Amino acid sequence: MKPVLDETHDRSAKSWVDSANLASADFPIQNLPFGVFRLQGNEARVGVAIGDRILDVAGMLSAGLLANECVRGAAEACASGSLNRLMALGAGPRKALRRRLHALLLKDAPALNRHVTAQHLVAQQDVEMLLPAAVGDYTDFYASIFHATNVGKLFRPENPLLPNYMYLPVGYHGRASSLVASGSPVRRPSGQIHEGTVAPCFAPTRALDYELELGFFVSAGNSLGEPVPIKEAEEHIFGVCLLNDWSARDVQSWEYQPLGPFLGKNFATTLSPWVVTMEALAPFRTAALVRAVDDPAPLPYLLSDRDQAHGGLDLWLETSITSMQMRQSGIPPVVLGRSNTRDLYWTMAQMLAHHTSNGCNLRPGDLLATGTVSGADKSALGCLLELTWRGKEPVSLPTGELRRFLGDGDEVTLRGFCEREGFRRIGLGICQGLVGR
Ligand code: CA
Repeated sequence: MKPVLDETHDRSAKSWVDSANLASADFPIQNLPFGVFRLQGNEARVGVAIGDRILDVAGMLSAGLLANECVRGAAEACASGSLNRLMALGAGPRKALRRRLHALLLKDAPALNRHVTAQHLVAQQDVEMLLPAAVGDYTDFYASIFHATNVGKLFRPENPLLPNYMYLPVGYHGRASSLVASGSPVRRPSGQIHEGTVAPCFAPTRALDYELELGFFVSAGNSLGEPVPIKEAEEHIFGVCLLNDWSARDVQSWEYQPLGPFLGKNFATTLSPWVVTMEALAPFRTAALVRAVDDPAPLPYLLSDRDQAHGGLDLWLETSITSMQMRQSGIPPVVLGRSNTRDLYWTMAQMLAHHTSNGCNLRPGDLLATGTVSGADKSALGCLLELTWRGKEPVSLPTGELRRFLGDGDEVTLRGFCEREGFRRIGLGICQGLVGR
C-alpha cells in the first residue's frame, strides 16, 4: 500500500495566511507541523505552524469550528504544554485534525470561518518555542552506513564496519533530561580525556562536534512484552524533527568501550521545535535503500514489502555554521554538509520494530533518532569528525579561521526540507545552538 495522499497534499492549495504562500516558506498549508509555544505570561499550548504564524488549536474549541467528535478530541489534547496527549491518541485523530485545519486555513474557506480562525493566530516572532514533548526515553540509532563506515575507519581502520551492522539497527539509550529546545545555549562540557598522555586528565573538551540527525516521535505506544510488528511500525510514529546530537569526541573515544556512548553525548541534544507529521511527509516517501548484492537481507521481523517499497524518506538535511567573528563581520553562514535520509541503511519502521522486538515498550512522546546522516560524498557528511577526518583536514571559514572541531562562539544551524516534482516543498524549520563556556 502506498502512502495515502489526499486534498491536504494538493500543491495548488493556498492559504489566506499570505506568508504561507511564499515559495521559500517552510510551513505552507501542505505542512501544518505541531509544536509547543508560549506567549509571555501565558501557559504553554500546542500550536500548528502556518507561514510565520501559529494557530492556537485549543483556543478554537470555543468557536465551534472543531465540533466533529474525532477532531474535537484531538483539539482538546492540544490544550496542553506538550504534544504527549495528542501523540497518545494515535494516527486517526491527528489525521482528522490535519484535514480540518487545512480546510479552515484554505484561501477559499468561508469568510466567517476565516474571520474566527484569524483570531487564534499568533506571530511566531512573539512566542517562545519549547520542547515539543515531555520525552520519557530517547534512543539514538546509527542508521547511516556511510557515517558508520567513516567513523569505523577512524577508530578501527582494520575493521570499520562491525559484523552486526547489516543485521540490526545499532542504537544506544540516550538521555532525555538533557534534550533542549532550539536556541538554547550549549555549554562546552568537561570530561576525562586520554590523548597523548600517560594518564587521562579532566578538562574541557577540545573536540566538540555536532551531529546532523533526524528525530522521530512515538505516537501511540505498545504494551510491555508486546513487540510492534514491522508492518504496523509506522502507525506508531507521530512525525519528525531536526536533532543535533552534540558530541565531545575526545571524551567519547576514551569512555565508549565496552558499553557505548555516555558523558561524551549526554550534556546536550538540541531539537527543532516543529514536528512534521507522517501525513505531511507522505508525498516524499521512497523505497528503502537498495542493499548491495553481497549484503544479507534483513531478518523476517525487519522485512515487509510495504516498508521496502515506501519506508524510505526523501528529506534533505543541512548543517551550516557561523563563528563569532563571522557574525561580527556580517558574513553569512557557511554550509558544512548536505545529506538525505533516503540514504539511510535502516528505515524508521525497522528502527522502531527492532526497538520493540524484545517486548520493550515505547510510550507516547518517546524520541528515536537516526544517528548522524551522512552520504557517500564529501559534501554529504553530517559531523566534523568525518568532515575534518578527526581534525587532520581542518575546515577553513571565510574569515580564515580553521575548525578541526567547534570553537566557543560558533553557532550551528540544522535545516531540513522535502521537495519533489508535483508537490509543494515543505520544511522542518531550524535547529540552532550557540557554543559557549
Ligand atoms: Ca548520534
